[in-house]
Amino acid sequence: MPDIDLHECTTLEEASSLMRRLAPQARFLAGGTDLLVDLKTGRIATTHLVSLNRIKSLRGITMTDKGLRIGALVSITELNRSTLVQRDFAPLLDASRRIAAPPIRNVATVGGNIMCAVPCADLPPILMTMHSTVEVWSPQGTRSVPLDTLLVGPRRTLLQEGEILVAVVVPKPPIGFGAAYERFGLREGSAIAVASVAVSLRLDGQGTITDVRIVLGAVAPIPKMVADAAESLMGRPADEDAFKKAARIAREAAQPISDVRGTAQFRRDLIEVLTRRALCAASERARGTRQG
Ligand SMILES: Cc1cc2nc3c(=O)[nH]c(=O)nc-3n(C[C@H](O)[C@H](O)[C@H](O)COP(=O)(O)OP(=O)(O)OC[C@H]3O[C@@H](n4cnc5c(N)ncnc54)[C@H](O)[C@@H]3O)c2cc1C
Repeated sequence: MPDIDLHECTTLEEASSLMRRLAPQARFLAGGTDLLVDLKTGRIATTHLVSLNRIKSLRGITMTDKGLRIGALVSITELNRSTLVQRDFAPLLDASRRIAAPPIRNVATVGGNIMCAVPCADLPPILMTMHSTVEVWSPQGTRSVPLDTLLVGPRRTLLQEGEILVAVVVPKPPIGFGAAYERFGLREGSAIAVASVAVSLRLDGQGTITDVRIVLGAVAPIPKMVADAAESLMGRPADEDAFKKAARIAREAAQPISDVRGTAQFRRDLIEVLTRRALCAASERARGTRQG
């Protein structure tokens, strides 16, 4: 590891002011499971780490009038164990339970998973389909940003120097709403997604689709919202034929690369299968016929 100065902050003001003073030679540190690997391999060079870990306001999962508020420092393990999440936000668990293995989950944070802004991260696609927003703090105040506009490129977000992601807010699912996340990794434990698909849909009393979002992971520079595939489902009954058609459109919309984990062709094939599966699972949840 290169020589690094670690700064432990206890307030957002302190962390933000340090970051503005030390940038571009500084990074915020949460769990470090992404950042420390990048430092060790030399992918990034930084001489200062501004740790957020002692800032109490970044912790905790609470229910607010806007929905479920998950503090940026909530670990993946805490998310998985939350009774609030288990009761009303089960689709998040489709993603969070697939992340890494317990030792990493114990320190990896929700905020870090979003802010690392890598295309294969598991939480952003499902959070996006669930219409989530993030709270971003700066000395000027706190602003709310729709998650689907936050990520602008691989390892790039629209946050300005010194801004801190303080929480993600997931609206309470309305009646008739269902969401699901499907991913393929090369093995069950500690393997990042080769391709993933998150879906949400809303059904009316007749089982017709009145709202739908489909987001692809690991097959484009950022999680990719597929509007065409979603439009093909609007106003249609939630059935196998409609799902197959949408899955084919999603396949064509993917922009995968070939790498050590799989070829572009393989990833396209995966997207078609995962989209169909996610649509089936989401519609079962929307109908209340799926446990968990
Ligand atoms: C063995 C292993 C397996 C893994 N498997 C998976 C997997 O299956 N799925 C998956 O999605 N990820 C996986 N990861 C990646 C990583 O663990 C997760 O992305 C994790 O959630 C990152 O969180 P962190 O707290 O460790 O972030 P850090 O490494 O501390 O930070 C990541 C980035 O976000 C920035 N940041 C963090 N918090 C904030 C904040 N509040 N405000 C502003 N910027 C912030 C940091 O400056 C840094 O740039 C794996 C990593 C390892 C080492």
